[in-house]
Amino acid sequence: MTDVRVRFAPSPTGALHIGGVRTALYNYLFAKKHQGTFILRIEDTDQTRYVEGAEQYIAEALHWIGFEPEESPLKGGNYGPYRQSERKDIYKQYADQLIELGHAYYAFDTPDELDTLRKQDPEFKYGVKTRNSLKNSLSLSPDEVQRLLAQGEHITVRLKIPADEIIEFTDHIRGHVSFDSNELDDKVILKGDGMPTYHLANIVDDHLMKISHVIRGEEWLSSTPHHVIMYRSFGWQAPEFAHLPLILKPTGQGKLSKRDGAKFGFPVFPLSWIAENEEDSFIGFREDGYLPEALGNFLALLGWSPGDDEEILDIETMIPRFSLDKIVKSGARFDIDKALWFNQQYIIKADNHRLASLISKQVATLGYQADAAYLSEVCRLMKERVHRTHEIVSKGMFFFSAPTTYDDATIIKKYKAENKQHLLNIADQLMTADQASIESAVKGYVQDNQLKLGEFMPIIRIAISGNMQGPDLIESMALLGGKESAQRIKTAVDHFEKVIHA
Ligand code: GLU
Repeated sequence: MTDVRVRFAPSPTGALHIGGVRTALYNYLFAKKHQGTFILRIEDTDQTRYVEGAEQYIAEALHWIGFEPEESPLKGGNYGPYRQSERKDIYKQYADQLIELGHAYYAFDTPDELDTLRKQDPEFKYGVKTRNSLKNSLSLSPDEVQRLLAQGEHITVRLKIPADEIIEFTDHIRGHVSFDSNELDDKVILKGDGMPTYHLANIVDDHLMKISHVIRGEEWLSSTPHHVIMYRSFGWQAPEFAHLPLILKPTGQGKLSKRDGAKFGFPVFPLSWIAENEEDSFIGFREDGYLPEALGNFLALLGWSPGDDEEILDIETMIPRFSLDKIVKSGARFDIDKALWFNQQYIIKADNHRLASLISKQVATLGYQADAAYLSEVCRLMKERVHRTHEIVSKGMFFFSAPTTYDDATIIKKYKAENKQHLLNIADQLMTADQASIESAVKGYVQDNQLKLGEFMPIIRIAISGNMQGPDLIESMALLGGKESAQRIKTAVDHFEKVIHA
């Protein structure tokens, strides 16, 4: 294979949708598999759609999830600039070249005129069948063309699609693809303001940046015949193409949209995006307690399968196994439960200190003080019980503050008034117990007095955490410390007495 150079080419029009992250991932995996280069190119020629902060968001999202581009606007590289707005001057000469070669032409139709035509016929296409009756340099006399060019209003350059041809190419995912050229439209390649459209800028840059494979979303498949024609017109070798399947809504019906996050109650963006109004603000996977490697694993398998049943694959494991021909053609259903499952698996594997640093802000915001060593112990005890990192705190709240409510139903079932004094004795023993002697202070006491562990452990658990859920009780008490555990038992006994005498 020639040198593999692939690019992720988002437009900075807002937060990067999860589908875009998957496109970046597949490009990254493909590049790594073939010792190639992964490039980030920012396609910002459409200034009307430019959104402040979107480019930074894209860079941060790629950094967070760990797909660092080797060439990018921030890093530079031998084929820069990597921001299309900084390449403006390059494109016009290529549009001129296509005109000279007879593969593009000037069009002078006003937006109003085109609107009227589209209203009359919603299927209207500026192309092989219609261009001769429209206002352009192919239909008008040379004098008229010169006059309109001199006037300088509403001048666009359009690609001249050849008549009566089948435009074909092979797609790595879809196989053989063909289009009838008479059905294609003469796309605008240069706008009135001299700025290129996506089509021109995209293929000029792919050519100049020596892109070998274009791996992008399915929505660009219908633009590809135009691109193939442009490559041919310039006499350039076209890159290879791979069009990725759509990501579908959880119901399997229709494309997953940015609003589906709010609708179904899960994130569809890698990082949170804060806009002026709430409707356009979105929570990210990062802020919702997902680990980047879990999201990467989940997204990789959303449309690609390594060919066996193995599911837990970190990036390094995926790289050698990745291939474009194992990507499915049909849409991939977005299943948040699967994402949660992956996240759980990666949280269990994660280093406790790392988890601790991820939850430290949440703990501080709640007003609790806990040092890193304590937090990392909380993470060790809680990690098997959560799907998202913030649940370590919300489900392990008793590690930060004594319970204020208790599971009364269980108290009524399990608490016996005759055990009150024993519980207080256990609390007394705990007052002086250190970490290592917590177990003997509790279990030793119960056994020495010929009592039943089954009667004491659930009740002590409720005293410590308020309910029956939670990690190993003795370990939890050891972390809380003997004094704190003793205090909680004493407070709880008062409550237990009230409940059974109520
Ligand atoms: N700028 C296009 C986008 O926003 C790039 C499509 C492509 O990869 O060619 O997705």
